[in-house]
Amino acid sequence: MKHVVIVGGGFAGLHCALKLASRPEVRVTLLDKNNYQQFQPLLYQVASALLAPNNAAFPLRDVLHRAANVDVKMAEVVSADLAARAVRTCDGQTYQGDYLLLAAGSEVNFFKTPGAKEHALPLYSLRDAEVIQSRLLEALEAADREPSLADKGGLTAVVVGAGPTGTEMAGALEDALQRMDRGLYKNVNLSKAKVYLVDMVHHVLSAFSPKSQSYAARKLAERGVELRLGSAVKEVTATHVLLEDGSQIRARIVIWAGGLKASTLAGHLGVIQGHGGRLDVEPDFTVKGFPGVYALGDFANIAGKDGRALPQLASVAQQAGRYSAAHIIGQIDGKPPKPFEYFDKGIMAMVGRDAAVAEVGEHRHELTGPIAFAAWLGVHAALLTTTRARIGSAMDWAWDYFGHGRGEQILDRPSGHAFSWGEEDERQSTA
Ligand SMILES: Cc1cc2nc3c(=O)[nH]c(=O)nc-3n(C[C@H](O)[C@H](O)[C@H](O)COP(=O)(O)OP(=O)(O)OC[C@H]3O[C@@H](n4cnc5c(N)ncnc54)[C@H](O)[C@@H]3O)c2cc1C
Repeated sequence: MKHVVIVGGGFAGLHCALKLASRPEVRVTLLDKNNYQQFQPLLYQVASALLAPNNAAFPLRDVLHRAANVDVKMAEVVSADLAARAVRTCDGQTYQGDYLLLAAGSEVNFFKTPGAKEHALPLYSLRDAEVIQSRLLEALEAADREPSLADKGGLTAVVVGAGPTGTEMAGALEDALQRMDRGLYKNVNLSKAKVYLVDMVHHVLSAFSPKSQSYAARKLAERGVELRLGSAVKEVTATHVLLEDGSQIRARIVIWAGGLKASTLAGHLGVIQGHGGRLDVEPDFTVKGFPGVYALGDFANIAGKDGRALPQLASVAQQAGRYSAAHIIGQIDGKPPKPFEYFDKGIMAMVGRDAAVAEVGEHRHELTGPIAFAAWLGVHAALLTTTRARIGSAMDWAWDYFGHGRGEQILDRPSGHAFSWGEEDERQSTA
């Protein structure tokens, strides 16, 4: 019986495991440092306290409970011997397979920006989203005790990076603040809360068409998001964000959506890392020189039809996961492999509760507003792993979209972060 070891139960690894589940003659071990799959497209809603964390994660054991040939192990992989197709976990265990699939995803990249690692909050994992949610609720509780904090940037959030993640985050934060402005925090003047979206490039949503970019910028501005474009972040401190153009924004909540790189494991594999720290792979996702070792999803640079790398998207990872399972099955069955063909559903982003942009399909048919929202919903529902998750999450999204709830208010992970302003904070903000 052939043994497949998969590292990472995200979109790529999980979909590979699900496809291999139909082949009882294959044994699969799925290793993940968490016991759930996080659904990144909804993390910004958790971070902005619009959704509870358990709406954006699904237990791996539940998703795979019918797959008798798939064994799930919660374990963090720290190193690998690619020649032996073996990995080692942080508790010293080794897993060796006939095939090894590396799908450990991405992590935040602060690009060595001074102070960012210490003071900015990344948004990549469920835990990151929970930390941001807690920081937001802490800031509101602190301002309720001491309303003057709102004048000192205590309710100012700076989102760094105006790609889809940053744009969605900034729009959702404004939505969340508007929802909370209904008598929840009686001593807080929420009109003093401010959201900035900053980026070194001159427009939001760089990968989108100029029409989508200007629609998104207009919708953000209508919500009250202040755009600071065309100037890179020079430094982040406990109390300020300093921009290259010399301006400063006084802020207590800094959210980093400014870039990604392959997760740490990529640096412990003994191979040269490519662009973004990712592994360069052959067209069939195998790592050159290591037969039987695959790298995919956000962990790999996957070339598209035109030879350019495909973007780090859930649909790329999901399709790559299914393809590599088929590739492994083909090898076992002695069938020649078919080339990978990415089915491009397009790119889309939610700008806020009633605003979305979508560029659908390979030819990028442009949509905005409710119809773009519907496209977003359809594509993202298809990314959910099980029917139950699809129905449950669709209902939650619909409730959130059409309903008028006040969002999450339970602060169960206080950071102990004191919201007081010392002497070093007294420099003047130019914001
Ligand atoms: C905030 C945000 C929003 C996004 N929104 C969208 C969107 O709307 N649409 C879209 O198409 N894409 C979106 N993306 C991109 C998409 O989420 C990724 O492209 C996709 O998750 C990549 O899948 P993956 O399987 O490669 O990695 P992941 O889904 O990240 O899975 C990697 C898995 O590996 C595990 N892991 C990592 N290191 C180790 C280790 N050392 N040992 C064991 N396990 C490990 C992790 O716990 C994780 O479960 C978004 C990304 C982010 C960050």
